[in-house]
Amino acid sequence: MLEGEFGLVQLSTGDLLRAAVAAGTEAGKAAKAVMEAGELVSDDIVINILRDRLAEPDCARGVILDGFPRTTVQAQALDALLAESGQGINAAISLEVDDAAMVTRISGRFTCGDCGEGYHDTFKAPKIAETCDKCGGTGMKRRADDNAETVASRLVAYHEQTAPLIAYYTSKGVLKSIDAMGDIDAIAAELGAIVKQATA
Ligand SMILES: [Zn+2]
Repeated sequence: MLEGEFGLVQLSTGDLLRAAVAAGTEAGKAAKAVMEAGELVSDDIVINILRDRLAEPDCARGVILDGFPRTTVQAQALDALLAESGQGINAAISLEVDDAAMVTRISGRFTCGDCGEGYHDTFKAPKIAETCDKCGGTGMKRRADDNAETVASRLVAYHEQTAPLIAYYTSKGVLKSIDAMGDIDAIAAELGAIVKQATA
């Protein structure tokens, strides 16, 4: 929605890595070697890939970073990268959800293996159990890391490594918080208002 309404490009770390590897850039080759060795791609490599991507013309109006930065060290590296071209962060948006609600939301979700339609045990169950409303498919899929235990450990990692970004971006004067316990339309409207102001 934000891409369409504001002419921004959404960049997620996973998509960036895959595209750089496919394009065979220097940073992409470095990322490929690390991933093939079964190791995590370093912050330096991600920053180099991001530098290349931000220089492309479609990013001229701005980008939405999704899933990056996740640590204060990454946020500092990102600020340094943007400063190279006289750019900066206009808004850092914190979508605030209770931990307990997060576990319910994530551990209940599944998708149709045939058409990709999303479902949820509590919020959007199919009319006939295990059968897709849209295409009639019966091969429902759940992500292996969407179980309650894994979600709980992902939340621990979030509180230890990522939550400090709230203080970091507050100190830079760009933090915007949204109560993300409400319905999707209300959250989308708030997000749109923030991005409109940030890109004005
Ligand atoms: Zn389906």
